[in-house]
Amino acid sequence: MIPYKHEPFTDFSQKDNQKAFKEGLKAVGSYLGQDYPLIIGGERVTTEDKIVSVNPANKEELIGRVSKADKDLAEKAMNVAYDTFQTWRKVKPETRADILFRASAIVRRRKHEFSALLTKEAGKPWKEADADTAEAIDFMEYYGRQMLRIKDGFPVESRPGEYNQFNYIPLGVGVVISPWNFAFAIMAGTAVAAIVSGNTVLLKPASTTSVVAAKFIEVLEEAGLPAGVINYVPGSGAEVGDYLVDHPKTRFISFTGSREVGTRIYERAAMVHKGQKWLKRVIAEMGGKDTIVVDSEGDLELAAQSIVASAFGFSGQKCSACSRAVIVEDVYDRVLDRAVELTKELTVGDPVDNDNFMGPVIDQASFDKIMSYVEIGKEEGKLMIGGEGDNSKGFFVKPTIFADVAPDARLMQEEIFGPVVAFSKAKDFDHALEIANNTEYGLTGAVITNNRAKIEQAREDFHVGNLYFNRGCTGAIVGYQPFGGFNMSGTDSKAGGPDYLLLHMQAKTTSETL
Ligand code: GLU
Repeated sequence: MIPYKHEPFTDFSQKDNQKAFKEGLKAVGSYLGQDYPLIIGGERVTTEDKIVSVNPANKEELIGRVSKADKDLAEKAMNVAYDTFQTWRKVKPETRADILFRASAIVRRRKHEFSALLTKEAGKPWKEADADTAEAIDFMEYYGRQMLRIKDGFPVESRPGEYNQFNYIPLGVGVVISPWNFAFAIMAGTAVAAIVSGNTVLLKPASTTSVVAAKFIEVLEEAGLPAGVINYVPGSGAEVGDYLVDHPKTRFISFTGSREVGTRIYERAAMVHKGQKWLKRVIAEMGGKDTIVVDSEGDLELAAQSIVASAFGFSGQKCSACSRAVIVEDVYDRVLDRAVELTKELTVGDPVDNDNFMGPVIDQASFDKIMSYVEIGKEEGKLMIGGEGDNSKGFFVKPTIFADVAPDARLMQEEIFGPVVAFSKAKDFDHALEIANNTEYGLTGAVITNNRAKIEQAREDFHVGNLYFNRGCTGAIVGYQPFGGFNMSGTDSKAGGPDYLLLHMQAKTTSETL
């Protein structure tokens, strides 16, 4: 087997690649506005009630109408997944991994079509959409290989006259609730991790990006995944989400999304319901309030560029996004001025046009939330650039920088999930690290310094799941920088890491007397 290597990104300065992406957009254009059924045990189920997915850059453009599960259909899907588990758990790991490899090959062939769909449905600029699709491919390639690596368990000792084994077996039915911000990568990654380790899945994708999920289920079917292993049940969180989380047959929940929803799931999953025979497991990847620390001994140009790219890439809608820049006072003004200068050059507009650096934010609720934080920012700091929004056609927000924000201000503490970054001044490097650690989150962070001792100090004391030196704080690569955070950022489940599949499994010891 070829060793794992991450899928390269597309160079869109090349004419051929531009043409290929435009063909992807054309392919997506041919099926915009279609209806998508639920998929339960391979059966297509159409409901009256629909989730309507629109283009966030152009509210008038319909991406698709997706059937919506209710409690009865969720129950039906649960029973199918529960029964299918009895056969799927016995399918050889090699066979399960092969399905992922075939699915990855299919996606790679249709790469630009999938990315173009992300551009339309999630408002992702080409480059960001391309990275999202590449990451989906990576998850399939990586988890397939990981399964092959762990399939025989770990060696244990045997005394004379006995034969001991230690193996991992799957858990059961998993409810996978996926986000809209990595509408392909995280949706596909969390689903296939559960599947390849022998579980069956009920997939409830984010409503705003449910079409790309429907397209992915078709890919899995084409790759040979048996009916009922994955069931596509989009629906409302309050109705279907809660019902499935509470269900006694649910064995685990894999959630990526907001802290608010994640903690609610965690609480509900802790309750043992009538007929339930296990304690549910929760894998949660939630928010972040991520900081780039800039030291006086750092490369200031690199610092400004890293802050701007990490704060405004995909309009700041990554849980890894830089929403706080903490800068040591002697270089504060220089980094701030340069970041403002760089931000002036950024263009905002429809992401189908590759010249735009930033597209829209995902929906009206998100737009409203971000704009309300802009108002809060005006009270708490000095607006340096941006601060404007326009939701007449799509949900556009200008990249926004606030300066001189106090470390405990709301802008420095609460997740905004938009293109807003707060700058805060630190007395020295120790103080900068203290501020960096002063949130309830602990997902990503970066330190810009050329001082080795400070790098080592941060390595020990900067308490985040993904810490980067002399670069930005977004863009973890599957199999290279396993991704997940501490504290209120989640369960530190490291997506794209060597122990991720084990979270979907349980260890069994067998001991035979000879
Ligand atoms: N893995 C992504 C990154 O490193 C972020 C994932 C997320 O925002 O949920 O930027």
